[in-house]
Amino acid sequence: MPKYVFVTGGVVSSLGKGIVAASIGLLLKSRGFNVAHQKLDPYLNIDPGTMNPKEHGEVYVTEDGAETDLDLGYYERFTGVQTSRNSSFSAGRIYDIILKKERKGGEYFGKTVQVVPHVVNEIQNAIRSVANENTDVVIVEIGGTVGDIESFPFLEALRLFRQKEGYKNVYFIHVSLVPYLRKADEIKTKPTQHSVARLREIGIIPNMLVCRSEKFLDRDIREKLGMFCNVDTDSVLESPDVKNTIYECPIEFANQNIDTQILEHFGLKYPEKQIDEWIEYIENITKTEKEVTVALVGKYTQVPDAYKSINESLIYAATSLKTKVIIKTISAETLETNGKGDLEKARQILKNADGILVPGGFGDRGIEGKITAVKYAREEKIPFFGICLGMQMAVIEFARSALGYEDACSREVNKNTTHPVIALMNSQMEVVDKGGTMRLGAYPCKLNKNSLAHKLYGEENIHERHRHRYEFNNEYREEFIKNGLILSGLSPDEQLVEIIELKDHPHFIGVQFHPEFKSRPVKPHPLFTGFIEASINTKEKKND
Ligand code: GLN
Repeated sequence: MPKYVFVTGGVVSSLGKGIVAASIGLLLKSRGFNVAHQKLDPYLNIDPGTMNPKEHGEVYVTEDGAETDLDLGYYERFTGVQTSRNSSFSAGRIYDIILKKERKGGEYFGKTVQVVPHVVNEIQNAIRSVANENTDVVIVEIGGTVGDIESFPFLEALRLFRQKEGYKNVYFIHVSLVPYLRKADEIKTKPTQHSVARLREIGIIPNMLVCRSEKFLDRDIREKLGMFCNVDTDSVLESPDVKNTIYECPIEFANQNIDTQILEHFGLKYPEKQIDEWIEYIENITKTEKEVTVALVGKYTQVPDAYKSINESLIYAATSLKTKVIIKTISAETLETNGKGDLEKARQILKNADGILVPGGFGDRGIEGKITAVKYAREEKIPFFGICLGMQMAVIEFARSALGYEDACSREVNKNTTHPVIALMNSQMEVVDKGGTMRLGAYPCKLNKNSLAHKLYGEENIHERHRHRYEFNNEYREEFIKNGLILSGLSPDEQLVEIIELKDHPHFIGVQFHPEFKSRPVKPHPLFTGFIEASINTKEKKND
């Protein structure tokens, strides 16, 4: 029987509950426990797949093809444990399960279907679904803030869950804000007291508080919080704003015994933790010797979390090369004039970039700007890395410049193009739904032996995660190859083009998948490391 840790949040959102959950995962794993992570979200979308990144940040894709919350990315990056479809449940998905059952008759037939007990029971089923026979501890983060109308069924489910599983098998952590009022020079505990009071109303008394504060919380303050909130003083932890990187958080929490307190509550014996690799990564961040500038030419440039996994992957790769990467996020539209690509503008805007990355995306806004960024990178021999839509843009650019098809495009952007070099596969033509209808999750890919991709991966058979509808159009395959495009990665049946490269270019690679979902601080992804290395080389040559 696994043990369960629940992480709730109070006062305001964005307090870093996900980082607390991920840190616990890392620390327990480093002591030899098998952990599983889960995120419960109170919103009514079935999953975040159809939400604009402006609303919700990046959509994180799991190995089994679920479109999930970006917190799952943190769980994987911290622990290295793969999440799955059952690691992410929204209220919408819970209701979807219930309503399907209701229509079928069966278990609900003749009954009134209600929030209590039906929704609350289904949430408990969801929580149980994430563990497998080897799981020791399940760590569940509850999205939203205690006191929200939508959160109520989830908290009620947790209360019942603790009753059923037994107090010794369940641990509650409440992450809350302890604000500092500058003018009064005072730290205020009242918002946290109120938030815990809301939890107690529901019947949940937290075992631990993690307090976000910009000021150091001394023993007096922690005693006061503990007293009013019914928590031991030693279990009132602080989560200070870390100095250099959020990856310091697990260390901060470990210093306050977050992991040993949880394990002692569960009555589990634990070996020493092994986190040398992690500490080394944190130290390396501050020991960089060089600097490199990468331009990320995308669409959602105002939203810091829209390209979260890519940003992180660039940093891990650069850190492993003792380099600091400066990521300049550039709106693709700024490389256009009246909706057309403007190479002169690209030249100006991208002139300090040592490498150019075009990330994934949907829709037609900024497409011509992205194609122009590819053109600039190809002609000026700047290292280029295209991811998903970015790879598709590279294919289009090549079709226009090298094959001479001026109106070459993707069918997603231009339905009437005479040269749809990126198009839907025949088997996809009938699909009309937008949600969950893409090629999603991990697919195998076979690498061409003499390619750059093969050199970087160091192996022939790889698996990477996908999230797209459109594909390289095979009708043009021969023509592309004849003109110098290298198809260096194909699906094992050779029907799908997964990776493209260019001859006569120091580093030009486009991938139909999303390698960023598999990068970790302690294990940067080879495609990112290769790209950063090439960018460093380009910079050094420029300066020679
Ligand atoms: N919009 C493109 C497609 O659906 C690319 C998707 C992406 O970049 N994730 O094929």
